[in-house]
Amino acid sequence: MSRLPTIATLGSHSALQILKGARDEGLPNLVVAAAGRDALYRRYPFIDQVRSIPRYADFEALEGELSEAGCVMVPHGSFVAYLGEEVNQRMRVGYYGNRGVLRWEADRALQRQWLEQAEIRMPREFKSPDAVDDWPVLIKTDGAAGGSGYFLARTPGALERRLRQLDGLGYTIQHYVVGVTLYVHYFQSLVHDRLEILSMDRRYETNVDGLGRLPHQVQQEIDPQPSYVVVGNSPLVLRESMLEEAYRMGERVVETSKALIGGAGIWGPFCLETIITPDLRFHVIEISCRIVAGTNIFVDGSPYAALFFDEPMSTGRRIAREIKEAHALGRLGELIDEGPGA
Ligand code: AMP
Ligand code: AMP
Repeated sequence: MSRLPTIATLGSHSALQILKGARDEGLPNLVVAAAGRDALYRRYPFIDQVRSIPRYADFEALEGELSEAGCVMVPHGSFVAYLGEEVNQRMRVGYYGNRGVLRWEADRALQRQWLEQAEIRMPREFKSPDAVDDWPVLIKTDGAAGGSGYFLARTPGALERRLRQLDGLGYTIQHYVVGVTLYVHYFQSLVHDRLEILSMDRRYETNVDGLGRLPHQVQQEIDPQPSYVVVGNSPLVLRESMLEEAYRMGERVVETSKALIGGAGIWGPFCLETIITPDLRFHVIEISCRIVAGTNIFVDGSPYAALFFDEPMSTGRRIAREIKEAHALGRLGELIDEGPGA
């Protein structure tokens, strides 16, 4: 059998979980970190190699070497944020996952097309401020990340004022769904041809998750603007009667992606970000097509992973397990997008 692949990633987001997962599965690992962020990764003895680069923009200069060393890059939430979509698309190191999904994920209109085709319920979107007939609404500015750049409006006047302040920036207007947020962490295994739910979380967002602690009278006096900046995540388990629907939504997303994106569609980890309303329906606000940071709660496994595995299984470790099994079966090529020039 050829040499074992090295699990490599960028030093940020969920890198610790991914690298620990590689070690637990007996695979070599490597992290590339920008100057100043490498110190963190040298603290942990389970990391085999820490490569430091001056800035993330210097990443491409390392690609030849990583490729030679048999690395498989495992992307996470910082890959597009720090390297940009184009660098991801042209990366010459083996890339775990289908790069075709990047385009579908980055564009809100394409995401909606994909999810609606998969019969996933989404919040209504309004083509113009005049078309809004269901309040409150959330204005999402283009390129907003991590929940900053969102504004809530509950009257036509407030909406108009907000939009004027945007000064030409692109935006989307969505119905604001009042309910409980729940993020479902899926894993589509090509080796086992099955969809697994590995864990779930809810995000902790400032200041919206703090507003409920203010008495109503105080809220009225100060009229605070809610913001949705994520600061952390907490675990949650779902009512068991809703679990089957959570699986079905994930399966429809995978099935639809095969036709839309091509090949095996989406595989590996992905997340549906949902809001559950009092009628117990899921409304999906977004899909993340890779490991999400909420899985960091479950480095040591989760109540859902325990139903599939008799040992602690994080999403990071699950990725390493899949890569290891595919390698042993001579099927690694199916999981790795070799990218341009392959
Ligand atoms: P950081 O590693 O904190 O610099 O974050 C890198 C990217 O991941 C940024 O785009 C963040 O918005 C995103 N991110 C980091 N942590 C989380 C989290 N807990 N939930 C959602 N997104 C996150
Ligand atoms: P996102 O950037 O889509 O992950 O959204 C960030 C946060 O904004 C979510 O975790 C929710 O708290 C909130 N949010 C986004 N879209 C909606 C919506 N249509 N209705 C209610 N809350 C939303």
